[in-house]
Parts: sequence; C-alpha cells; structure tokens
Amino acid sequence: MKKKTKKTKEKTISNIQVLKNCLFAVRELAVFSKLYIIVFPLLTLLYTVTSAFESTYYIKMIVSALENGEPFEKIALLIIIFIGLQFALMCVDWISSIWSDNIVENRFRESFNRRLFRKAANVELECYENPEFYDKYTRALSDTCSRIFDVFYNFVWIAFESIKVVYLIATMMAIDAGVGIFLVFPIIGNFLLGKWLNGIEQERYKENTRNTRIRDYVMRTLHLARYAKEIRLTSVYSLIQRQHAKSVDDTGAVYDKYAFKSGAVNWIKVQFTFTLIFEGLLVYCAYKALVHGTISLADMTVLTSVMSTATWGVINISDSILEIQNQCIYLQNAREFMSYKEKIPEDGDGIAVPEKIESIEFRNVTFTYKGETTPTLDGVSFALSPGEHVALVGRNGAGKSTLVKLLLRLYDPDSGEILLNGRNIKEYRVADYRRAFSTAFQDYQVLAMSLFENMTMGAKNEGDRRRAEKLLCKVGLSKKLESLDRGLDTVLTREFDDSGEVLSGGEAQKLAVARALMKKGAAYVFDEPSSALDPISEYELFNTVIDETAGATTMIISHRLSSAKLADRIIVLDGGKICESGTHSEMMRRRGLYYEMFVSQARNYLADDEIGGEAV
Ligand code: ADP
Repeated sequence: MKKKTKKTKEKTISNIQVLKNCLFAVRELAVFSKLYIIVFPLLTLLYTVTSAFESTYYIKMIVSALENGEPFEKIALLIIIFIGLQFALMCVDWISSIWSDNIVENRFRESFNRRLFRKAANVELECYENPEFYDKYTRALSDTCSRIFDVFYNFVWIAFESIKVVYLIATMMAIDAGVGIFLVFPIIGNFLLGKWLNGIEQERYKENTRNTRIRDYVMRTLHLARYAKEIRLTSVYSLIQRQHAKSVDDTGAVYDKYAFKSGAVNWIKVQFTFTLIFEGLLVYCAYKALVHGTISLADMTVLTSVMSTATWGVINISDSILEIQNQCIYLQNAREFMSYKEKIPEDGDGIAVPEKIESIEFRNVTFTYKGETTPTLDGVSFALSPGEHVALVGRNGAGKSTLVKLLLRLYDPDSGEILLNGRNIKEYRVADYRRAFSTAFQDYQVLAMSLFENMTMGAKNEGDRRRAEKLLCKVGLSKKLESLDRGLDTVLTREFDDSGEVLSGGEAQKLAVARALMKKGAAYVFDEPSSALDPISEYELFNTVIDETAGATTMIISHRLSSAKLADRIIVLDGGKICESGTHSEMMRRRGLYYEMFVSQARNYLADDEIGGEAV
C-alpha cells in the first residue's frame, strides 16, 4: 500500500515544477537557436491575429456588405483577398514547418542527445545500478527533444490563445453583454468536467499499470534474441501466453469498471462544451435579432462566429495545459538527469597520469555498496610491483570484481586509499587514469561493428591491422579469421547486417582478451576473461596473456586455479578480506583456503594420488 502511494507521487509534479520545466524547455531551445525562439512566436502571433480578424471584422464586413446591398463584385473581391491572405499564410506555415521540423528540430535533437549521452557516460557506475536513477535516464532518453518542442509550442500557444480569447470575449460583450453567460458553459465543460474526466482516466491508467507492464514484458521476451532459446526449448511460451491473456482480461475488467462513469462524465462535458453553448446562443441571438430587434443580422453572425472561435480557444488552452503537464513529467526526468552532480565525473580534472606504472597499492581499503550493511571489501591492503602478474582468486562473491572496479575508479572506497606510483588515484585526471588500463571483463560486449573496430574500439591506428591479426591468432582465433571472407572487415553480430558473423561465447571471450592486449595499456586487468572456455583453451589463453603483457603490471581474476598458478603471485580474497597471498607453491605448502580450493578443483580432473604431486 505504501509503495503504491510512492508511485502515485512520482507520477505527478507540482505547478511550480511544471513552470520550471517549461522554462527549462525554453532555455534549452534559446541556447540552441535564438532565431527560432523569436520567429516561432511571431508566426504564432500572425496566425492568432488572422484567426481573430476572420471571426470578427471579416465576417462582419461580408454580412454588412450583404445587408447594405453592396455590389457582388465588391463582396467577391473581399472574399478573394481573404482567401489569398490565407493561402499566403499557408505557404509561410509550410516553409516554416520545413525549417523547424527538418532543420531546427533535427539539429537540436543531435546536439541535445550528444549532451545526454555525454552525461550518461560521465556519471559513475553506481548510477546504473540504482533503479531510480536508471529509470530517470531511460525516461530522459524517451524522446525528450520532441517534448521540449511540444512544451515550447504549447507554452507560446497558450500565451497568444489566451490574449485572443480575452479579445474575442470583449468583442462579444461590446455587442451584447448577455452572451457572457454562455461562456460559463465551455469553462465548466472543459476545465471542471474535463479535469474530472482526466482524473478518471488517470485512475484507470494507474490501475492498469501492472497489466501494461506485463504486456510490455511479454512483448520484450518474445522479440529479444536473448530469450529466443528458452522459448524454443522449454514450455515457457505457454506460461508467457497465459500471463499475456490474463493481463488482457484484467485490462478489460478495469475498463469495464470505469466505463459507465467516464462515459457519463464525457457526455455531460460534450453537452456543456458544445450543445448548450451553440444551440443556446443561436436561440438567444435569434430572439435578440428577430423578436427584440436590439442586434443586427451582422452582429448575430459575428456573435456566433466569435463564440465558436472563443470556445475552440478555451478548449485548445485547456488541452495545451494538460499536454504541458504530461510532457513536463518527462522533462522533469531530463532536467534532474542533466543537473545530476557526478561523484566521479569522467571529465573531472586532475594531474596527468604517468606513462609508466611503477606501483599500485591498496592501503586498508574498505567499501560498502549503497544500500548494503556489510562491507564488500574490508581493510584490503596489498601492493603490486612493476611488471608483476598477480592472480586474484576466491570464492564467488568474495569481492574480486569489486576490487577491480575500485582499482579502475568506477567506485571510490569509503575509507583507505588506492595509490598509483605513490599518489592517491583520485588526484589523476579520471578519463586518462581509466584509459591507462587495458581491460577485459566477463560481461564483455561484442559490438555491431567490424572485427577490426571491435579490436581497436575507436582508437585510430589503421597501421595496426597486422598486430590485430597476430593477436587474434595468438588468442586461438586463427581458424576463425581464415574462415572469414572479409577478414578483419567482417561485420560482427546480425544487428545491422544479415550476413554479419555471430561468434560463439568462447570466441567472443577470446576476442575480448585480444582487444585488451591490442590496446597496449600501462597496466592490464582481466576479470574472469575465460569463464566460457574449456580448461585447455583457458590455460593456453593465460599463457598468451602472460606472454603478451610481459613487463606490464597485470591483475587477472580467475576461478580456475590451474591457470592462476601461472601468475607471479596469487592473492586470495575471502569475505572481502585478503586471507592469503604468495606463490602457488608457498600456498600449497601452507594448506589454507587456496590449498582447499585447488585440491577440490583438481579432483575433477586428476586421480587422488596425482593431486599431491601436481599440487606443489
Ligand atoms: P566476486 O567477483 O568475488 O564474485 P563481486 O565483487 O562481484 O564478487 O561481489 C561481491 C559481493 O558484492 C557479492 O555479495 C555481490 O552480491 C555484491 N555486489 C556486487 N555488485 C553489487 C552492487 N552493484 N550492489 C550491491 N551489491 C553488489
């Protein structure tokens, strides 16, 4: 129940926030194009003035001319002039919409999204693990640019339309003050009843949120490739289908529940907004003109025409207000996202990173994930000397990946220090610091680009094609490379190219390692780079890694200890603390956690009597 209240709060924003978001939209556009900010309102003013002129003076001129028996040619000329004016206006509208839609909006979209992406790349990793922040980001991405334009259009529209409505009301009241009574109807109809109807629709929407989410989820599972295997190999399809059918039934039930109420309110709204006002006004004017004789036929025409324009003005204003309120909920996310103060900004300043890494040291480092109560790393201290290869091992959840994330400054420690060449890593320029490391992670990503681009990852070094080929062969992809007609230019994945090459899990992992080696970093970090490989391939890959990174400080996380033992030193993490460290032989003699883990893994491959010999 409590949770539901929170969700409701998230969906609505105060009027002050709505106004702030409108100003945000105007500011964003003003920064981008001052010309647009001036020209668009001027054009809107032109349309508003023409429409007000049409429903007041123009109609009056025509009817008066008819009443006074003016010659047909004069009346026809008036009509032709007005049609010509409207045609000219339509051409202006056509040209301006080409300019605003195709040029201004497209360029704005590119520039705004570039800033949005930059911001997304600049915020710390923790933000991506925070559902509230992630939600904000995805909503900020959901067409914010169009919303900024919509809010601006509506903002300008409301301003001019309000002035027009006031002018029209004044014109009507000047002819006959009694007609003022009819204006109460659209105001009641559109503002009060409209708000009521909106409230009912929002309640219905909220009640259907869970059903909508289920339907979205079902759609996703059916079209995303990562679910395709399970759907074909298990009976989960029928389960998903049942979920979908139930959500459709439940949606129908919610609609049924609200059907009578929303239908009835809508009917009353239409009566107030259209029927009462137009039919009532017509009878009133006819009575005044024909029975009372206090208004002329031309005035009667002007009154009905003005009333129609004013009513539509009121309807448009209230629709625009609702539209702005709706769009501002999304803009609020974009505004909050853009104004988020990064804790470890990628573009943060600092001193230059030394070319050669002499030492890396963790000094009593403690770190707790947000929302957790126990530290994931607890007083971790160790030092890596230049060119040393260290394997980090431990049970699942021991904190190995977390340690690497801290080393790469994806998070900062709660206490303690991480030093590079004797300086706290916080002193270095963040982007340069991160770039000093060559990394390969377990959750590597193969990008929908060429094999070569997947190796260089944007680094412009065309001359290195030979090295790329050599490394691919070294990590065990020589046969694969030979089988590709377009060699390094082969496009990977079928995201954009039907003939794209799809790599197996193991091949992709080898590619991730080759990519890390390609970069020639000052130090290397491999976080379980070989989990999808068989023991022999992994052993070979480790040998390649050790060979290729000779002379550079390297940290390798591995769960397979037969490979880890190739490192100069092994550090064992347990429960966020370093429990052992040393060479393979030293630790096997010590018979601690490392020995236990090694023996239990070796048992899978060797006979019991072989383990002792292999062990030390
Ligand atoms: P390892 O790499 O040794 O398997 P990790 O460093 O990935 O372990 O995780 C250590 C502990 O921290 C685990 O209990 C894991 O559930 C937790 N953890 C990892 N990432 C997060 C996160 N983003 N938020 C909260 N807890 C996390």
